[in-house]
Amino acid sequence: MVKAEGVHKSYGAAHILKGIDLEVAPGEVFCLIGPSGSGKSTFLRCINHLEKVNAGRLYVDGELVGYRQKGDRLYELKDGEVALKRRDIGMVFQRFNLFPHMTAVENVMEAPVQVKRETRAVARERALKLLDRVGLADRAGHYPSQLSGGQQQRVAIARALAMEPKLMLFDEPTSALDPELVGDVLDVMRDLAESGMTMVVVTHEMGFAREVGDSLVFMDGGVVVESGNPRDVLTNPQHDRTKAFLSKVL
Ligand code: ATP
Ligand code: MG
Repeated sequence: MVKAEGVHKSYGAAHILKGIDLEVAPGEVFCLIGPSGSGKSTFLRCINHLEKVNAGRLYVDGELVGYRQKGDRLYELKDGEVALKRRDIGMVFQRFNLFPHMTAVENVMEAPVQVKRETRAVARERALKLLDRVGLADRAGHYPSQLSGGQQQRVAIARALAMEPKLMLFDEPTSALDPELVGDVLDVMRDLAESGMTMVVVTHEMGFAREVGDSLVFMDGGVVVESGNPRDVLTNPQHDRTKAFLSKVL
């Protein structure tokens, strides 16, 4: 579903991703861990067409991200083409980023109505089902300010699912939450994983990675240092940098 081959990304002179190679299979829960500044968010942003890679190839569902290839040459995609591709990818951020002036159900309906031109009635019905799925059937009429952080994050997940994505990206979805709210969000993510969704999850929740993850990658300094089955990597890391990182977070 995602394939990175020698992916490089720089911001000006700052070389952030220094040749990322990895592959995420369909239906897989792929966890990404690593110290602050190692490039995890940058990599997710590249997958989601928010950044263009400078070198290497990045594919989502078999299609090159950000470029079109003709012969040996690459042409940058136009904004409209990028927007079309981004529709198929859901992203959930550390901060919930809900529209503050809209209720939970309106937040979930917004993209299907505006982007896919669904009727409000159809979009509302599906949005209510999604809110039920994330355990918020009774909060549909609440505004974000009337919801806890964990509830807002579950609305954000429902909102991403409303576009029926083929891939979901999570960037530290629980790290801004009070500890007692983390479990509800992880439960929703676990259900989503069990439904077969392909998920790339940047997280510090090693319990989630161990129990739900199919693969785990440890990134440091813009490269993949170590990868494998989460249980193996977490219990028996091979590299000193992985060991040092895990000794701080476990
Ligand atoms: P964290 O765990 O703190 O979220 P991260 O692994 O997600 O870290 P990134 O956010 O990908 O790290 O950042 C990697 C590096 O890229 C950092 O040094 C950051 O300062 C730099 N960076 C990120 N975005 C930009 C930008 N838009 N312009 C310039 N530098 C950036
Ligand atoms: Mg980050």
